Amino acid sequence: MKEAYFWCYPWDLLDEGPDLALDRIAGEIGAQSISIATTYHSVAQFRPHAADAPARFVSESAAHFQPNASAYSATRIRPIPASWMKSRNPLERIAECCRSRNVALRAWLIACHGTALAARYPDAACKDAFGNRSTSWLCPANPDVREFVAGLAADLTTNYPIAAIELESPDFDSNPHTHAHEKIGLNLGPIERLLLALCFCESCVQSANDADIDAAAVHRSVRVHLAPTIAGEPPRTTTTIDFLASDGALQAYAQHRTHSIRAFVTAVRRRTKTPIFVHAPYSPDLAGWNPADLAQHCDGFIFPAWTESPDSRRARLAQLVAAAGSPDRVHLGFYCYPPQTADGPALVRAVHDAVSAGHSTIGFYNYGIAPNAGLDWARQAIRFARRDR
Ligand SMILES: [Zn+2]
Repeated sequence: MKEAYFWCYPWDLLDEGPDLALDRIAGEIGAQSISIATTYHSVAQFRPHAADAPARFVSESAAHFQPNASAYSATRIRPIPASWMKSRNPLERIAECCRSRNVALRAWLIACHGTALAARYPDAACKDAFGNRSTSWLCPANPDVREFVAGLAADLTTNYPIAAIELESPDFDSNPHTHAHEKIGLNLGPIERLLLALCFCESCVQSANDADIDAAAVHRSVRVHLAPTIAGEPPRTTTTIDFLASDGALQAYAQHRTHSIRAFVTAVRRRTKTPIFVHAPYSPDLAGWNPADLAQHCDGFIFPAWTESPDSRRARLAQLVAAAGSPDRVHLGFYCYPPQTADGPALVRAVHDAVSAGHSTIGFYNYGIAPNAGLDWARQAIRFARRDR
């Protein structure tokens, strides 16, 4: 194993004391690096070991560092600094503590998912076939969104000793949710979910038209395809592939989204020389995501190895490794708490298997969420993987 790291929230490190927390993460548990949330979606976290008594942390989506305005001159979108920081800059202190301990610092950057940004910049948010704006997702095809996230990457890597950027959600919403209690009385299958997830914002329409795809015709046909669903019909039983194959323009429109995502990652790449790793989305079909289109424009992928059934996980991982060209370029992430990981031996086994298959960078999720027992599972998994190879 080349690198073991922990995903961390800055507020957890700050409340515990970054020196103490890093002594534990690096010294006791044995990780060499941390990935710190620099921008994050809204969160309500239960913190089992934050202080003397378990605590909760709640925040609207925000930037969890103090942005430098000069990095955002190419976009009208500005980061929204989290209110819990007040005038402090937690990233500065954490970076200093990492530097003094020789712990590498990764910047975990949530790109398009954020309710506060969607509320402040609604015309940059995704728009469905019925004209409804997303309240939680900015559109990756929108040039302002692209330059905003590229600005974040430039800001972070210019002003802090960042060893790698983790780009999460530089794509379309693959897990559509509004952060409100969702009320849908329709029978949705994978095809209907895809039709509802397609974005028809001005940027997506323009980009498709530029590629000689008739966006207006696709827009019309999506509404026609969804009419029976909205009338209460059951979901379609054909596969998504077969369904798209029956409507050439729709298929081209759905596939074109990967070009927008590639342009997005390329824009970030232009603003920083720091290695960029892209998180694989929960549902590539809904996200419009194709790793083969991205592999040349980033340094690798991060795969959350907990998300699916073993069979589909294996298939997706094989696809990522094929696109990346090597398992070494696919970093794997594991929960260190149940139910995604049942117990310590399960984590030890999973990490051992991953390292044996050539995945030399392993992430553990998440320092402030895991109970103390889960942190010990990670310590055992790291020790076992090191002894093994
Ligand atoms: Zn769009």
